[in-house]
Amino acid sequence: MTLSDTLKADIVIAGAGAAGLHLAWCLSRAGLAGRRVLMIEREAKTTADGAFVNDRTWCFWERGANPLEHLVFRRWANLDFKSPRWSGRLALDGHVYKMIRGADFHAAMRAELAGIDEIAWLQGEIADVGDGSDGGGALRLADGRVVSGRWVFNSTPIGAGPAPGPGIRLIQHFLGWVIRTSEDRFDPGAATLMDFRTPQGGDTRFVYVLPFDARTALVEHTVFSAQPLDRAEYVAAIEGYLREQLGIGGYVIEHQEYGEIPMTDAAFPATSPRGGVVNIGTAGGATKPSTGYTFKRIQAQSARIAANLAAGRAPLDGRGAEAARFGWYDRILLNVLAHRRRGGADVFTDLFSRLNAGVVFDFLDGRTRPWQELQVMARAAKGPFLAATLEVAMGALHRSRPK
Ligand SMILES: Cc1cc2nc3c(=O)[nH]c(=O)nc-3n(C[C@H](O)[C@H](O)[C@H](O)COP(=O)(O)OP(=O)(O)OC[C@H]3O[C@@H](n4cnc5c(N)ncnc54)[C@H](O)[C@@H]3O)c2cc1C
Repeated sequence: MTLSDTLKADIVIAGAGAAGLHLAWCLSRAGLAGRRVLMIEREAKTTADGAFVNDRTWCFWERGANPLEHLVFRRWANLDFKSPRWSGRLALDGHVYKMIRGADFHAAMRAELAGIDEIAWLQGEIADVGDGSDGGGALRLADGRVVSGRWVFNSTPIGAGPAPGPGIRLIQHFLGWVIRTSEDRFDPGAATLMDFRTPQGGDTRFVYVLPFDARTALVEHTVFSAQPLDRAEYVAAIEGYLREQLGIGGYVIEHQEYGEIPMTDAAFPATSPRGGVVNIGTAGGATKPSTGYTFKRIQAQSARIAANLAAGRAPLDGRGAEAARFGWYDRILLNVLAHRRRGGADVFTDLFSRLNAGVVFDFLDGRTRPWQELQVMARAAKGPFLAATLEVAMGALHRSRPK
């Protein structure tokens, strides 16, 4: 396809990160049936030597194979949890923790999509996204060109993101180092999901350790709070952790990643006012508010959109009551953490020390049955969670009142 005939496409995907690429991949697998897709991304995502950048790694737990199992870089069948009150190996009930590297994902996706005739690419800066004049969606590039499509799937922050107004607006922010030691220091068979034995500073702070082999590991200091820290604070926390908890003095930093992920109970508008634009990925509210995990939710969102379009339905059909129920739990957990009704270290220690971690993971994935959810609630601290439930219910009541 040439550029002149792609400025109007059937499907426009704004942003070729995790959500944009996933969606294109799912659409291509569901069958494009002649529909033309235009991908628009501002970054080349490659380094000077042509390799894809590894700007992030995506981790998640799951049972069974991932649709991108061939891209999984490391798997951990054992996870440890550590806190001043309780430490132990988690009973995962068949879940495996997995990591996909950004560089591998971009390389594989770009290679696979490059071979599909219906998919065209445009590198450019998007300046505006909104409803088009013909019932679809449209976007304007910084160079002034306008692109339109029956659907615009937008994963950029432009015209998307949490609605303004009251609500909890935490961020999950983290600095991670891939370090290499000169002697064997890690057990590559076991990762540490959360280690709260790090100064809490009045927030929720933990360290995450993912060994790649006996001498290499990603060590990440993660904080849930309203504002990011100064870089020096993450550095001091990682150095202190390596020294005091792992007894590691000498190491080389091979790679680093910094990230910020929204944790909010604010609504994310799913579409533009007339529905021509559908927001996806982080911009579309795919992040789990209480944990920040997003990747698997992006995978589920992309698969659902592709299946709906292939069946001639609207892209977001089929979001059900289940999602609403788990949305409530999420807001309650986020409320407890944000208002520090109970410290994050205690909240997660309560859950992981008193419950099978497999049930906690299923609960966080929105896959539990009501009786299991009662189990989870019974293990959480009553006072803080009741206060949070009341506040969340009052907020919902207030929002539902006619204005
Ligand atoms: C460092 C880091 C690590 C993370 N780790 C995990 C993890 O382990 N597990 C997990 O579940 N989640 C994780 N997340 C959260 C989430 O999964 C990722 O942020 C994920 O990449 C979100 O996908 P996305 O497509 O919504 O956004 P992105 O992947 O950021 O894609 C958006 C794309 O839009 C492009 N874009 C933006 N603005 C414009 C514009 N104006 N014009 C043109 N293009 C534009 C960007 O260049 C980008 O390519 C992590 C996030 C970060 C930042």
